[in-house]
Amino acid sequence: MMTQEEVRALLVQTGAIMDGHFLLTSGLHSPHYVEKFNVLQHPEYTAQLCAAMAEKFKDANIETVVGPVTGGILLAHETGKSLETRAIFTERVDGKMTFRRGFSLREGERVLIVEDIVTTGGSIKEVIDVVKAAGAVPVAVSMLVDRSGGKANFGDVPATALLTMEVETYAPENCPLCAKGIPMTKRGRTGK
Ligand SMILES: [Zn+2]
Repeated sequence: MMTQEEVRALLVQTGAIMDGHFLLTSGLHSPHYVEKFNVLQHPEYTAQLCAAMAEKFKDANIETVVGPVTGGILLAHETGKSLETRAIFTERVDGKMTFRRGFSLREGERVLIVEDIVTTGGSIKEVIDVVKAAGAVPVAVSMLVDRSGGKANFGDVPATALLTMEVETYAPENCPLCAKGIPMTKRGRTGK
């Protein structure tokens, strides 16, 4: 089992969570920047995190793990390996989330949905719809990081995260980091 502190420390160590003063693509400023592939590029760590995600569901009779592209492919694969289940993924066709590549679920199949960094939970909701449309049962949602600030709520499908964090964002004119004269942080890569 990994504690929230251990998960956060690993994400900081690999540069998946960076602390500083960042200009986001939205134009907003933030004291944090999240780049999930800084940790997911290390298979050893991805396996470790997914084992922790799987641990909570080892007695839940999960039959298949499903994640949305892109990070969800890796997470589904590694979580499915830990749970000794099948692992498949959804992707978008003309903007609509769906199964491709011959993937399917049978009526009543027990599914765990996994995702890496959840900001709004919109993609997960679409995956739940795809699973339900196939007649399968979305048993739960397992997130690596929930940074939604409580917005990631999936109705009748319970959700859990290895790490819950608030990611504050500010308009440049209201940014407390700018007010303190802190320079913007360059997004350098950090080592393993
Ligand atoms: Zn700022």
